[in-house]
Amino acid sequence: MKPRFASVALNVPAGSDTYSYKIVDDISDDMLIGRRAVVMLGNRLMEGYIVDITDHADIEEDKIKPVEALLDKEPIFTKAMLELAFWMKEQYLCPLGAALACMLPPGVKARIQKMIVLLNEADVIDNTKSLIINALRDNKGRMALNALKKVVPVKNISSVLAELERDGVIAYEYTVKESVRIKDSYNEAAVSGSISTVRPVQQQLQAITAINKAVDEGEGAFLLHGVTGSGKTEVYLQAIQHAMDIGKDAIVLVPEISLTPQMVALFTARFGSSVAVWHSRLSMGEKYAQWWRIKNGQAQVVVGARSAVFAPVQRLGLIVLDEEQESSYKSDMTPKYDAREVAKRRCDIEAGVLVLGSATPSLETYYAAGKGDMRLLVMPDRINGKPLPHVDIVDMRQEIAYGNKSIFSRKLLKAVAYNLKAGQQSILFMNRRGFSTFVSCRNCGLVMKCPHCDISLVYHSDKGQLQCHYCGYKIAVPKVCPKCKSPYIRYFGAGTQRIEHDVKQIFPHARVVRMDTDTVTKKNAHRDILRLVWRHEVDILVGTQMIAKGLDFPEVTLVGVVAADTALNIPDFRSAEDTFQLVTQVAGRAGRAAKPGMVIVQTYQPEHYSLQAAVKHDYESFYRQEIEIRERLKYPPFSNIVKISLSGKHLPDIIKAAEDMAGELHCYLNNMCYNNDVEILGPSPAPMEKIKDEYRWQIILKVDVHIMDDIKYDIKRMVDRYSCASMDINPYSML
Ligand code: ADP
Ligand code: ZN
Ligand code: ZN
Repeated sequence: MKPRFASVALNVPAGSDTYSYKIVDDISDDMLIGRRAVVMLGNRLMEGYIVDITDHADIEEDKIKPVEALLDKEPIFTKAMLELAFWMKEQYLCPLGAALACMLPPGVKARIQKMIVLLNEADVIDNTKSLIINALRDNKGRMALNALKKVVPVKNISSVLAELERDGVIAYEYTVKESVRIKDSYNEAAVSGSISTVRPVQQQLQAITAINKAVDEGEGAFLLHGVTGSGKTEVYLQAIQHAMDIGKDAIVLVPEISLTPQMVALFTARFGSSVAVWHSRLSMGEKYAQWWRIKNGQAQVVVGARSAVFAPVQRLGLIVLDEEQESSYKSDMTPKYDAREVAKRRCDIEAGVLVLGSATPSLETYYAAGKGDMRLLVMPDRINGKPLPHVDIVDMRQEIAYGNKSIFSRKLLKAVAYNLKAGQQSILFMNRRGFSTFVSCRNCGLVMKCPHCDISLVYHSDKGQLQCHYCGYKIAVPKVCPKCKSPYIRYFGAGTQRIEHDVKQIFPHARVVRMDTDTVTKKNAHRDILRLVWRHEVDILVGTQMIAKGLDFPEVTLVGVVAADTALNIPDFRSAEDTFQLVTQVAGRAGRAAKPGMVIVQTYQPEHYSLQAAVKHDYESFYRQEIEIRERLKYPPFSNIVKISLSGKHLPDIIKAAEDMAGELHCYLNNMCYNNDVEILGPSPAPMEKIKDEYRWQIILKVDVHIMDDIKYDIKRMVDRYSCASMDINPYSML
């Protein structure tokens, strides 16, 4: 028989994509490709993935080690998933083995122990035994051998052992322990699905029909743009039902935070035990069990967060991404994949249909739909015909003029007081992070921005300076407003804690609860707080972004956005988009049930296009203005952003490395004549310069979309030479 070699992908940081190993077993190629295997790298035993079988090796044949053992009974990766992994490697510049490893849940990673088997104890004369004992470097093995056990664990294979193997004194075998044991706790009898009794309304019917047709044809991508409460979920449910009717499977991705029990119950009620749920709160054992249920075809619908995009469904019909604009779809660990892109690619490979749903699509997605890359389905009306809640903007400059220096406007205070009296609940909302270091004029609302990057300058109190965290531009804090000459120019600072404190002082009898990353670090704290609100044991909930998403509180009739400016002035090119999404989302929270809702947005920039559009619930208008700015300043979708981060304990080293790298980048772009296609911003400190005793600097590249593929490998190589550096292509957040 001709010799065969396996190309095995290993999850090791650098090195080559695959390594060659000899195939000794007589197994067909089809049963090998996509299979997990145990191999030696150096003298380490590792789990790897066979991605190809060839009849030639890339190094000298006699240097090639054999595949030590095959895992599982059959390939764990389909050809389609292998293709997806190859694509991820190119797209995200990660090792092939890392792409494959991230497709498996943590439990499906083997712990491998190599064992020596003494073929015939009686024949093992003392001399041989001591040879073996000497060759074994660990005590466990020695002890076992001394006790004359037949099977002995071994860590390293020495030449002595190799000789004994050739002489037939010993042989090897492997014990493979999956890291988890499964308790098959899933109770299939407990749940049963039911056919929908919901009659879709006209706008839903149109969307469902279009998607179903695409699922039949096995091709298509959609953006389902529907206002909050327009009934997107029912569209997903009916499209999935159709896919199942024709024998296909579906994956539904939702942001982790909205993967609530209600959400899961909705799918389980419809599809019963065909549903597999996938989220980070599952234990390793549960994940492992779910994974195999899907792999074995026992579950046809997978509902989960980001990593569920890799769920091993057998016949992909469609992938739905709800709230497609959410930043949690982008992984921040290697491989730094974007689940939207992976889903699209996977649909292309497996003849699936992609449905991205949102009330506020990301600029990139809406732009792609405009270009015809995906089909736009619009649902402009709420199901029950209820109007979207009334959004009021309060001009905080007027409050200052009136002499009100509190963080609450008169209008908001009045509304909260009214709600307390009426026994209704209120939410007071501060943007996602206590990121409050921009400088603005309290008189005219002017915000100090970088003249080059159009992002807010960050205030550094120690130096009395304002600095741009993209390009490094610096100025002293002006004494008077450059526009209106008012001396009332201040840096802005109010976090959720301050709001909670002030609210308690103004309304001493109100029951106030705060919810932000500080208060929900304890397990279940998140749920406990929500339960308090749900049971109406809280009058006022103060919180961050966390409370804006996916929650449905029928008794909440007032939402106050205390400082829209903190969102508007995050030093990130997406700040206007984030603000629009935020206000739209919080508006969607108010008045979900019978009582009408009201939203009050406080700001020093009431004329800002993002707020103006949000008030009118006018996505189109926001999009038109924002896309123009993106184009003018060459931000995505008109460029690719490459963020290179450098971090370390010793600041001068980090700055030096950042400067060296920037120098190298300039040199490279010069030599390649790419100066006009790539703009290098920085190096500059990251907006949060010091986190956990590590200093962070960054270099940002705006890369013309057409040359990205030409240069990304070179840039990656440059970055890899600095141990303190890493790169991220098109990150969602620039913080
Ligand atoms: P979205 O996800 O677009 O914000 P939802 O899917 O939450 O909207 O739908 C809003 C509400 O309308 C939900 O309570 C849902 O049960 C209900 N609903 C959806 N479609 C219909 C329909 N065709 N008939 C009656 N009620 C519906
Ligand atoms: Zn001013
Ligand atoms: Zn700048």
